[in-house]
Amino acid sequence: MTLTIEVAFFLTIIIGILITMLIIERKHSRLQQEHYFWMAAAAELYIFDYDVRRDTMRLSEACAFLLNLPANIPHFSKVIHNEETALNERGLNYLRKAMQDDNEQFTICLKHKNQIKYFRINSHRFCDYGDYKLNRIMGIFADVTDNTIREQKLKQRAQTDQLTGVYNRGAIVQLVTESINTNNDKQQHAFLMLDIDHFKTINDSAGHQAGDTALCGLVLNLRQQSRHTDIIGRMGGDEFCLLLKDIPSIVFLHEYCNRLLKSISQNVHYAEDIPVTISIGCTIMTDFDDFESLYARSDKALYQAKRSGRNTYNIDAASLAIS
Ligand code: GH3
Ligand code: MG
Repeated sequence: MTLTIEVAFFLTIIIGILITMLIIERKHSRLQQEHYFWMAAAAELYIFDYDVRRDTMRLSEACAFLLNLPANIPHFSKVIHNEETALNERGLNYLRKAMQDDNEQFTICLKHKNQIKYFRINSHRFCDYGDYKLNRIMGIFADVTDNTIREQKLKQRAQTDQLTGVYNRGAIVQLVTESINTNNDKQQHAFLMLDIDHFKTINDSAGHQAGDTALCGLVLNLRQQSRHTDIIGRMGGDEFCLLLKDIPSIVFLHEYCNRLLKSISQNVHYAEDIPVTISIGCTIMTDFDDFESLYARSDKALYQAKRSGRNTYNIDAASLAIS
C-alpha cells in the first residue's frame, strides 16, 4: 500500500515535470516565433509561415500588405481551397503557388505602392524528425526589382541597334526563328528586306551625320507603318528587315510595299529636300523555312528590285506562286 502511494506520488511528480517542460517549450517556441516575426517586420521582410497542425497562416506585416491579406489567417486550408473566399484571391494564389513547390524559386511581378515590383519566392517544407510528417511551410518573397530591371536593360541593350533603336541582327535571327517555330496556326507571315538606294551618295555628298539622320528617319517611318506585332531590325549598314505577321493576302503585301515606298520618299529627306528612297525584297514564310532560307530568298528579291531601277519592291516568284 505504502509502495503504491509512493509510486503514484513519484508518477505525479514526473508527469508534473513533463507538463511544466512542455509548457516552457511551447512558451519558448512561441517566443522564438515572435522574435523572428519582429525581425521580419523590422527588416521589412516578406515572410509567410504556415503551421500545418494548427492550420494557421501567419504573414509578416510587409507580406500581408504586399498580398493584401490579413496577417493571421486561421483555418487556412479551408480558405485556400474555397474559391468564394472574401480574401484577396490574387494574394491567395501567390501563396498557393509558393506553397506547392518545395525549394523551387520563381519570380512574380506585381504592382506594389504604385510601382512595378519583382519578387523571387522561395519556400521550404519542414517535417517532424521521427515520422517525417509535414508540420510547417515557410517562405520568403525577396524583392529583386533592381536586379531584374538591370538584367532587362542589359538584355535590351544587347538586342538593340545603338543608332536606330530597332533590333540588331542577332536579336532578329532569334526572334524570326521563334516566329517560325511557333507558327502553329499557320498564319501567313511576310519577311521583307529593305535597303536605302545610293546610300553611299548620301554619306559622300551630305556627310555621315546626314546618313545617320536618314537611317533614323527611315526607322521612324517603318515604325509608323507597322503594327506592334511586327518585328523591325537592322541587319547592318543601310539594310533593314521587317517581319509582317499574319498578313491577310498577297494583295495586302503589294499595297503595303507601295504605301511604304511612297511614305518614305515623301517623308525622309537629306540635304534639305532630296528624297531618300529604298528598295524592298519580299518573301512569304513557309513551314520548311529557317532564318537563312528566308533571308536568302528576300535578299534575292531585293537584288531584283535594285536591278529594276530601285525605289521599288519585288516579291519572290515562289511566294507569288503559292499565294
Ligand atoms: P545601293 O542602292 O545599291 O544599295 O547602293 P548604296 O550606295 O546604298 O550601297 P550600299 O547599300 O552597299 O551602301 C552601304 C553604305 O552604308 C556603306 C557604308 O559606308 C554606309 N554605312 C554603313 N553603316 C553606316 C552608318 O551607321 N551610318 C552611316 N551614315 N553610313 C553607314
Ligand atoms: Mg544601299
